Amino acid sequence: MSRPVFFVTSEMYPFCKTGGLGDVLGALPVTLHKMGIPVAVILPFYRLTMNRHKVHQSYFGLPVGYPWAPITADAHKIVYNGVPVYFIERAEYFDRAAYYNTYKGDYFDNAERFIFFCRAALALIRRLNNSPAVIHAHDWQTGMLPAYVHYYKQYDPFWQNTSTVFTVHNLAFQGRFSSRLFDGCGLPPDAWSMSGVEFFGDLNMMKAGLNYASKVTTVSPSYSREILGPEFGYGMDGVLRERGSDLHGILNGVNYSIWSPENSRYLPRHYSADNLSGKKLCKDALIAELGMSPHLRNRPIFGFIGRLREQKGIDILYEIVPELMKRDIGLVVLGEGDAGFEAASMRFSQEYPGRYAGIVRYTEPLAHRVQAGSDSFLMPSRYEPCGLTQMYALRYGTPPIATSVGGLRDSIVPCPADDCTGFTFDECTGDAFLEAILEALTLWENNPQRWKEMVIRAMNQDFSWERSAQQYIDIYRSIGYGQETL
Ligand code: ADP
Repeated sequence: MSRPVFFVTSEMYPFCKTGGLGDVLGALPVTLHKMGIPVAVILPFYRLTMNRHKVHQSYFGLPVGYPWAPITADAHKIVYNGVPVYFIERAEYFDRAAYYNTYKGDYFDNAERFIFFCRAALALIRRLNNSPAVIHAHDWQTGMLPAYVHYYKQYDPFWQNTSTVFTVHNLAFQGRFSSRLFDGCGLPPDAWSMSGVEFFGDLNMMKAGLNYASKVTTVSPSYSREILGPEFGYGMDGVLRERGSDLHGILNGVNYSIWSPENSRYLPRHYSADNLSGKKLCKDALIAELGMSPHLRNRPIFGFIGRLREQKGIDILYEIVPELMKRDIGLVVLGEGDAGFEAASMRFSQEYPGRYAGIVRYTEPLAHRVQAGSDSFLMPSRYEPCGLTQMYALRYGTPPIATSVGGLRDSIVPCPADDCTGFTFDECTGDAFLEAILEALTLWENNPQRWKEMVIRAMNQDFSWERSAQQYIDIYRSIGYGQETL
């Protein structure tokens, strides 16, 4: 049996999820397990996760070992689809109402929370006493982990043959904190440098991951190139360029056992590329559920699902709502986020009753129903590391209209190509977006046959996880997975 691969992450569906990170971690380890890789996952034990799953085994008093206090953590193991999942428990850090923030803003001690999490995860792995071939960390919350492994190697042979992979799911969120937090983080003074964790006088956890991991990956090939430049690099482009061939772009996959119109447990009717009649019923049901005008059954409905943040281009969409509403179409916007954007969505609902449905909530079941009940999916993102919702839209037969960036560029074949699966536009402006939507509307109205062919092509796209998982395995192998310890 090869030495294991440990995933350390702040999200994993169905235990905890705020976005695509949760979906990816809900699927990739399970896929790797099915492909014969010995994987395990370590997560925080959030209040929102507690009490829902039966614990198999517990580990008490893990020494997290801060320089100033003998703080410990407990861990609890369950097995999920064959994969051991460990939850790090420390009530004052994770037994809270939310994961990272409340409506008042980020938790003030997020740095301490996730530094603690990384150190506790390593303490757990040490206790399990099965030296991992690879530890795979994700986004800033676990960015410090490769740094710890780098330094632990210097005095504990247990870590000697452990490599690290750090995956960037969104470079814009970096975990940047005051330099005073470095003092207690347990790294030696020489980590406080440009090639370490220091970034313009602050502690930057994303940078720690980028600098210390054996390999860095991000979630689409296009994004892996875009972040090498200043526009999408968010100050990290230089650091990333330094990593050269250690940086890889691997497109995320889709968990089709959850996200497909044949399987979704949230749809009123199932359907497939061979029989689309259920999609029409899903649309009728969505219209009824959201109290939209019944005449929209015969008119196109455009759907948006996502965080109401500028990244997602929600302001671009709002800019053209009045123009769109001059046409006889429906618009569904499911999302929560910035207070101003949430308020605007509610206002549009009042201004265009029956045709604009704004739902300011986080609700997984409705997300499936909006995917199924819409005719086309809107995704005007300013940047998009991968984006999963457009891939879900393809499978649900809801051709996306999206900016040509990052993973959107890598997953949508734009009209007018013969094998098109959706629409893209280059400039992230209201005008360009409107033009793309009107192009889609024209096709929907004037050429239903071509539209239907596009829908079927979209549904037949295959973004299964196996292909992406194989690329991760290749990376693990390149840094020691499968080799016996010396
Ligand atoms: P990101 O990770 O940047 O938020 P992705 O497209 O990769 O974007 O993933 C978003 C995930 O979050 C999808 O599973 C999507 O359905 C889900 N999601 C976003 N907003 C909501 C919401 N308001 N209700 C339900 N699901 C949502």
